[in-house]
Amino acid sequence: MRFSVWDNPESEQVLRVMWMEGSSAALIADALRTSRNSVIGKVHRLGLSRTQRKPKVAKRPTRSRIAQPRPGEPVPFLKVKWFHCRAVLDQRGKDGLAVFCGQAKTIGSPWCVKHRRAFTAARVPS
Ligand SMILES: [Zn+2]
Repeated sequence: MRFSVWDNPESEQVLRVMWMEGSSAALIADALRTSRNSVIGKVHRLGLSRTQRKPKVAKRPTRSRIAQPRPGEPVPFLKVKWFHCRAVLDQRGKDGLAVFCGQAKTIGSPWCVKHRRAFTAARVPS
């Protein structure tokens, strides 16, 4: 059985946001647990353009820069860092976007110990 990441409407939202934020296709692929080619193909199908990724409203409270999430707590979608686990939690942030697990991820894996175990176990055919 083949599952497409794009069957999930959340994935498209994640793609749009990350792409407009200037994330690389490889990074988005990592976050969505799909291939880079799949991301690029979807970007083209959606007609997303990098040229409009600079929003004019650059009004951000300065304290948001200080209040960076640390590993161990759920991370809002736009605050996720390279060291955060990329498991998407079953909840929404204040901005209405997906929330990541936020635990420190393990080396060689996009997930923390708990999620790596969960996702790896789910893939083993019974
Ligand atoms: Zn996790």
